[in-house]
Amino acid sequence: MTVQTIRDQLNRPMRDLRISVTDRCNFRCSYCMPKEIFGDDYAFLPKSELLSFEEIERLANIFAKLGVKKIRLTGGEPLMRRNIDELIKRLYVIDGIEDIGLTTNGVLLNVYGERLKDAGLKRINISLDALDPKLFGEINGRGISSNLILERIQFAKELGFRVKINMVVQKGLNEHQIVPMAKYCKENGLELRFIEFMDVGNDNAWSFKKVITKKEIIQLLSKEFNIDEVEKDYFGEVAKRYQYNDTETQVGFITSVSESFCSSCTRARLSSDGKLYTCLFAGNGVDLRSLVRSELSDEELEQTIIDVWEKRQDRYSDERTEETAKKYKKINMSYIGG
Ligand code: SAM
Ligand code: SF4
Ligand code: SF4
Repeated sequence: MTVQTIRDQLNRPMRDLRISVTDRCNFRCSYCMPKEIFGDDYAFLPKSELLSFEEIERLANIFAKLGVKKIRLTGGEPLMRRNIDELIKRLYVIDGIEDIGLTTNGVLLNVYGERLKDAGLKRINISLDALDPKLFGEINGRGISSNLILERIQFAKELGFRVKINMVVQKGLNEHQIVPMAKYCKENGLELRFIEFMDVGNDNAWSFKKVITKKEIIQLLSKEFNIDEVEKDYFGEVAKRYQYNDTETQVGFITSVSESFCSSCTRARLSSDGKLYTCLFAGNGVDLRSLVRSELSDEELEQTIIDVWEKRQDRYSDERTEETAKKYKKINMSYIGG
């Protein structure tokens, strides 16, 4: 297969594809799908509007020809998409795809863990925002205890997955959980990634005041541990990684707010209903689903994706202010895929 490297207006190649496989979730995290908005009557996408596995596979093949090497499956909660392991099998055999990851809240790993392993998946990111069971139950909006997620994490490790933990940190909410989470992950050989609270969507009551920056987290960690910065592995690596001096275990930071990384952002995003977005904070996407469901050939689809990428100028986080965060109409993260 010949791979074509396409570049956007800021000379960034397209290397990663994040696919949201469903907009539904069994949690109602306050920072993502607050239950006041995503209530019982919320209209999620009907099945007919989701991309089918065949459609995702076809598009992923085209993305691979345009330089995509990594795919991440996300959502919503990706394990709520029935038979997700079947999709993983299909994606693994695509020429050019070197790595597949999955981000999950972990609840359904007891059902899907072995099936994901059999499908070839090697890496899983599990989200956990607090060790404190009560606080975690409040954050996830469903009263699910952190103990359940800790069990799932151990299970995923036993199955042989490389597991990373995602923790979104918010001032006044879970900052006192930073050190306990770091201790737990260090003792269990898990890479913890602190994610700065972001203004995704328009419903999560974001403000700069609620963000705890990497700098602040490092100050807290430095009182307990000795950590040193680690070199980046590749262009476009998002996490800034540090290593504890006395172990091989690392800790990472996703600094979308305090140290934005738009200049090396190589990510395209496919929403659950098949829209192509070139930024997590975009307001509009290009409807690939209707093109896939039309008579268009693969070559024509490929050209559409090239045109979108070559026009791309996004650098939202570089330019973020309190005002832009409020002003722009952005797509919800559960729909576009975190
Ligand atoms: N449901 C899965 C999960 O929670 O892992 C996958 C989808 S979720 C949208 C992907 C990641 O985005 C999670 O780690 C979540 O914590 C993070 N996330 C969601 N909303 C966020 C926000 N406002 N700021 C920062 N990270 C956020
Ligand atoms: Fe669901 Fe993940 Fe969003 Fe929480 S962060 S509501 S688990 S999609
Ligand atoms: Fe990429 Fe947009 Fe995030 Fe910048 S703000 S890093 S362009 S997704």
